[in-house]
Amino acid sequence: MCSGGGPMNLTMDELKWFRYRCNDCGKVYKSTSERSSICPDCKSEDVAKA
Ligand SMILES: [Zn+2]
Repeated sequence: MCSGGGPMNLTMDELKWFRYRCNDCGKVYKSTSERSSICPDCKSEDVAKA
């Protein structure tokens, strides 16, 4: 069963992750959404890309 040249299985790790930092509680977290992200801890919208 050696089928060389076939397409490799693509991993699902190709998602783009954005790092955010909460300006209220200082938590750093990752989100897949580039915009309108909120802090998972304090639900603050005052976050900035890290
Ligand atoms: Zn926060």
